[in-house]
Order: sequence, then C-alpha cells, then structure tokens
Amino acid sequence: MNKLDLHIHSIASGHAFNTVHEIITYSQKMKMEMIALTDHGPSMKRAPHAEYFEMLNRIPRKVGQLEILSGCEANIIDLKGSLDIPKEILKKLDLVIAGIHKLTPYPKSTTINENTNSIINAIRNNELDIISHPWRLEFPINLKQVVIEAGKYNVILEINISLLKIYKNNQKVVNKIQEMIHECAIHEVMIVVSSDAHWIYEIGDVAILKELNIKIPKKILVNLKYMKKRLNERRKK
Ligand SMILES: [Zn+2]
Ligand SMILES: [Zn+2]
Repeated sequence: MNKLDLHIHSIASGHAFNTVHEIITYSQKMKMEMIALTDHGPSMKRAPHAEYFEMLNRIPRKVGQLEILSGCEANIIDLKGSLDIPKEILKKLDLVIAGIHKLTPYPKSTTINENTNSIINAIRNNELDIISHPWRLEFPINLKQVVIEAGKYNVILEINISLLKIYKNNQKVVNKIQEMIHECAIHEVMIVVSSDAHWIYEIGDVAILKELNIKIPKKILVNLKYMKKRLNERRKK
C-alpha cells in the first residue's frame, strides 16, 4: 500500500464512483498521507466544466493527518499539446496532471512521432507536474525523447496502476514501463506511482508492482518529502 496517491477521480469525472467525501474518509481510514483530487478536464465526455477546478479551493488542504491536493487530469487535445483547462485555473491548483485520452478531441490514428511531439509541446507550453500514463497502447510515444524533455522541465512521469492491472499480461506494455524506468534512472527524471483510482478501494493499492517484479530506484521515486518540497515551491509562485 502506497501512502501517497496523486491520481484519483471522483464522480465529478462522470465515469467514477465515489464522492470527494468518500475518497477523503476512506483515505483517512487507510492512513494515507497525501492524496490528490484529479478529475478529468472538460473536453472529455461528461467530465466537469472548467470552473469545477476553481471551486476545489473550497476543499480543505488537510483533514486530520491527511494532506489533500487540489488537482486535475487535463486532456491534451491536439498535436500542439494544448490542454482543455485555462492556464489561469491551472495556476490555482496544487497539482496539474496532463495526458492523452480517448473520448476527447485528440485526433485519431496518430503516429508515434505525433504523440511524442504532442506530449513534448504540452510539457514546454504549460507548467505541468505529471504526465499520466506516458506510453499507452493507443497512443505510443518515443519514451526516451519524452523522458529527456520531462527532465528539462522538471515534470514527473507516471506509472499508472489502473492501466498496468488491465495490461499485466501484455508483455509490450510491461516492457515499456521497464523502459521508462530505465530511461528515467539514466536521465534522473522522477517517477510517481499512482492508482488512477475510479473507485475508492483502488486508492494506494500498488500490489501489482510486486506481482510483476517492477522496481523503481528510490532516488527517482516520488515520496511525501519530495512532494511537500515541490508543493511549497509551487505555492510560492
Ligand atoms: Zn488518464
Ligand atoms: Zn485518470
């Protein structure tokens, strides 16, 4: 069980099953140390409108011992790497995740080069904290190029537990995770392990890593201390 989980969806996403209150209550019960509320950006079907993310300021940043980050999982919507949440709103959040998704305006049947450049442009043109599920079967990328760019802009790359659970028997997907860890270790780029929970019982559950014998070097693995420092720097801006 990870005590830090920076990628969690609530019913606001339109396809997840728990309220923010349930997410906080469960996280407290499981003695989580830090969670982030990261619903999908508005261009995904049935996702919340952009102003929803402004309202996240109403939620306390700490409940008991639990640290709660206001965040989003913005959609990368074109090959220029544009996001679907205005920059003024992103600035007010504690954590900005961006990723390429189906059921959004992102073009269909894109090439590896196009996906790679789209993510690189998103990294260059926004203040991102995390790229979610950087390599996906539907949207493959050149991992090395993205890792190098993430390093230049201090962006964290994610190991997405939800996708890993779905594709645990797909050797190509598992190999790509290993390749990402390898490249991140060489280029000293941080990795975060996130549940991408759409259901509270997924929060903090990373057992699949052990099952697949996936190991991340400690020095590039995001932990509570690292996040607190990063957050302080972000809030100062
Ligand atoms: Zn996602
Ligand atoms: Zn997600």
